[in-house]
Amino acid sequence: MPTPVRGRLADDREILLYDSDTGLGVDRRDLPRRSPLPVTTVRRDPRTGDRVIVAPARQERTYHPPRQMCPLCPDPDGRSSEIPAADYRVAVLENRFPALSTVGVPYRAVPEANPLRVEELGTGRCEVVCFSSDHDGSFAALSDEHARLMIDVWAHRTAELFARDDIAEVYCFENRGAEIGVTLAHPHGQIYGYPFRTRRTRDLLRTAAAYRAEHGTDLFESILADEIADRTRLLVRTEHTTAFVPFAARWPVEVHVYPNRHVRNLIDLTAAEADDLALVYLTVLRAFDALYARPLPYIASWHQYRADAEEGYLHAELFSVRRSADKLKYLAGSESGRDAFLNDKTPETIAADLRAVIA
Ligand SMILES: [Zn+2]
Repeated sequence: MPTPVRGRLADDREILLYDSDTGLGVDRRDLPRRSPLPVTTVRRDPRTGDRVIVAPARQERTYHPPRQMCPLCPDPDGRSSEIPAADYRVAVLENRFPALSTVGVPYRAVPEANPLRVEELGTGRCEVVCFSSDHDGSFAALSDEHARLMIDVWAHRTAELFARDDIAEVYCFENRGAEIGVTLAHPHGQIYGYPFRTRRTRDLLRTAAAYRAEHGTDLFESILADEIADRTRLLVRTEHTTAFVPFAARWPVEVHVYPNRHVRNLIDLTAAEADDLALVYLTVLRAFDALYARPLPYIASWHQYRADAEEGYLHAELFSVRRSADKLKYLAGSESGRDAFLNDKTPETIAADLRAVIA
């Protein structure tokens, strides 16, 4: 597990540099101090039980700044960016406009006086993860060794956030491309430490428990074995890692990446497994960018669970809204109104197209 250099920004947010040669300077910006109480809340939809994070302060967040004002480029003077350092390899910092935060107060639920209006404090942690100091870089452009460092960084953050009893779920993800809604061009991802289990995680775990009750085997191990046996949607199979297009892919480009050995989370990978996972992850992202003339907008979404979770299997889910060289898929009535996805491409065609660009 890597040991980061830790520091504080001008408004007391935490910043961590990994594998840093230069260390941290002083953030000399005149930033307003953060409010001592969480400013967001989590409301429960009484019809579905879904949680909605209400975070009005995020309306003020930095929106497509000009390149010379990029808040994620290294800044040796400590006057113009979030990262007061001459350079860095990977930087992690608390989000200035967080959807969830604690700022030192313990998690506590607002009393449930009315079952139709359940509202909790938006405690948790939102981190920005800068993959590289190169403003024009991307995850796919990282070296093998740098991508492996990212796996270690995610594992380190996961371990630290899982150790907090006010965090129920740790979600590492990347939004890439303005088409996805990214407002900062600098290559970066995010980590959310939620105080609740998200609906998607609850759905996966419930389905896995039902599968075990009916078939006596692990759902995710079974999916992996079935995709390997079928081969129709298989993309990459190495000693420690497998990538495939799922049988019921929801998106016009969608790939799932599993370690071959059943682990719950990134922390539990061996060094050889982490090496291999980084390489396969890069292979998939580079195939994404080779599909069309322009880099593919995508979302990379990691599923992981505490070691003692009742079900769950570490895997990455990578997908794109691009359905052809010049068309995007929008989440319209069926998807947004009913959560019932329509895919214009067969998963088998998606796999064939990706295999064609994997050298
Ligand atoms: Zn930048």
